[in-house]
Amino acid sequence: MNETNTLGRPSAGHPKISASFEFFPPKNQAMEETLWASVKRLEPLKPRFVSVTYGAGGSTRERTHRTVKRIIDETSLKPAAHLTCVGATKDEVNEVIRDYWEAGIRHIVALRGDPPAGAGTAYEPHPGGYANGAELTAGIREIGDFEVSVSAYPERHPDSADWDEDIDNLKRKEDAGATRAITQFFFENDMFEEYLNRVRNAGVTLPIVPGIVPVHNFKQVARFSAACGTTVPDWLERRFEGLDDDAETRRLVAAAVAAEQVLDLNARGITDFHFYTMNRSELVYALCHLLGIRADEAVEAAA
Ligand code: FAD
Repeated sequence: MNETNTLGRPSAGHPKISASFEFFPPKNQAMEETLWASVKRLEPLKPRFVSVTYGAGGSTRERTHRTVKRIIDETSLKPAAHLTCVGATKDEVNEVIRDYWEAGIRHIVALRGDPPAGAGTAYEPHPGGYANGAELTAGIREIGDFEVSVSAYPERHPDSADWDEDIDNLKRKEDAGATRAITQFFFENDMFEEYLNRVRNAGVTLPIVPGIVPVHNFKQVARFSAACGTTVPDWLERRFEGLDDDAETRRLVAAAVAAEQVLDLNARGITDFHFYTMNRSELVYALCHLLGIRADEAVEAAA
């Protein structure tokens, strides 16, 4: 029997899968309702943590704060607040970090952020600000005993000149006190495995958690991918071909594609995954079910 090809059948031979979920802060009342319905639906799955993104240039500072605070106040989940260096002095960023500490938040996802003019333009650190994710990580660790997650790029960050520079940057983040790296989303597992080998060969020991994006909308994901340097393989495009006006089939295909990717990585020994939810629960809930993550089992395990 082929133990490595078990779509939908995580077996005793496969290490147990655990999940974390990413949300973004809602912009209006309708989005707020969708987000909270999703948080409530996914909460019984007992994710390791749930993270809330920080808008470009700090544009969601208040909304991110409000969302993580509400997660603390109204759920049993452990929130992680994303934070970037963009458009703010160190003092301003430090104030946000202290506010998080006072609100009971103990986990920050520390990022440089994209240039205010958009990804692909040259990044200029704010005068008097943190220059990048590594400096921000060090700053956070000086303020409090936070858990700090950072970013990692299985296809290299577009700003890094070569692989050595890219991995050195990750090493600097580990040395500054990061405790986990979460990757940019990707679709080619062989590339991820190659990346992991590079990282380990360079002496980086941080857990590298794959970021998985269930493809809610292929065209949108293709656009994001072009902006952040993620390869969209032909086989993926082919799977969503002809489904632009068929949302129901698209969802079924998306759940199967994401489950296939996670199970293949799991067969290669990866156990922790970070799911980009897009604030929707249906697809991620179905995906978790396929992967063997069940509400009652998670509750039993935690009891
Ligand atoms: P860093 O790791 O600090 O640096 C990235 C690259 O920039 C390095 O590889 C290096 O090439 C170059 N670089 C860094 N410092 C220097 C230096 N001093 N000199 C020369 N080159 C340097 N963006 C948001 O706005 N909000 C979010 O909530 C958010 N969440 C994210 C979550 C994850 C898991 C990931 C993977 C990305 C997220 N992003 C978010 C996107 C991220 O902000 C961008 O990818 C950004 O361009 C890089 O941020 P970073 O923290 O990865 O940068």
